[in-house]
Amino acid sequence: MHPRDFEQISHPALAAGDAAGGVRVRWLGVAGYELEHAGTTVLIDPYLTRVGLGRVAFGRVATDTAAVDREIARADAVLVGHSHFDHVMDVPYIARKTGAVVYGSHSTAHLLHASGLPATQFRALDHARPTTFEVGPFTIRAVPSLHSPFGLGRKVPYAGDIPDGCEFPTRVKHFRCGDVFAWDIEVAGKRVFHLGSANLVDDLIDARDVDALLLCIAVRYPTPDFVPRALRATTPRLVVPMHYDWFFRPLDAELRLLPRTRFGRFVDEVGAFSREPAVKTLPLRGEMRLG
Ligand SMILES: [Zn+2]
Repeated sequence: MHPRDFEQISHPALAAGDAAGGVRVRWLGVAGYELEHAGTTVLIDPYLTRVGLGRVAFGRVATDTAAVDREIARADAVLVGHSHFDHVMDVPYIARKTGAVVYGSHSTAHLLHASGLPATQFRALDHARPTTFEVGPFTIRAVPSLHSPFGLGRKVPYAGDIPDGCEFPTRVKHFRCGDVFAWDIEVAGKRVFHLGSANLVDDLIDARDVDALLLCIAVRYPTPDFVPRALRATTPRLVVPMHYDWFFRPLDAELRLLPRTRFGRFVDEVGAFSREPAVKTLPLRGEMRLG
């Protein structure tokens, strides 16, 4: 990690929001978050196993239940943005453990079905238009979105769907991307927008003046003007970057950046936006309160 590239950032304007109450937002690493208000907990893309790189490339992968148990005690709902392993792999175990209902694509539903999770615990969402649903005090809009195309040929990695009737995947390449969703979440008078892959469908976002934009900044360069477009679409007061951690090592290890995170450039891009929202980073497992 280059010290000039990255530092924990906390904007003084946020101090008033750090008191008790409101909505608690905790970063679980990668695109994972835990949102809690008034005893209701919503998880987004919780991935705690953090399989080592060698195993990702060549071996079989499976949930580390101890790693999940260390972080996740309860959940009422789990939102899955897409069905790559680093977003969905731990979700069957979490759903079984907590009884949470899972919301995501048809690919995610097929994967959950293959895991043996009862159909009453998942909802496959339409990707043609946004869908709104409620979880306790949370009003959640699933917004059809896209995955960033990267690597050789600028393609979505492991593109395509997880088929119905599949076996539960044991190799990373079988966690096909499926449909992609962003999440527009309103609770306790606050609006949080989660964009878990660095791409978007600008016209579908329809979420001005969000209180916090949780923004994937991994491999964003193939998506033209990704950061300015995400800011224009949501006009946030606060931007919390995510999915920049090197997620092939445990959550309690020191944070390392993914290659080409270019954190300083990200901060400059936010600073160039006319409304100049605050930027805040959370430490791994760190939390903030909005409210
Ligand atoms: Zn992905």
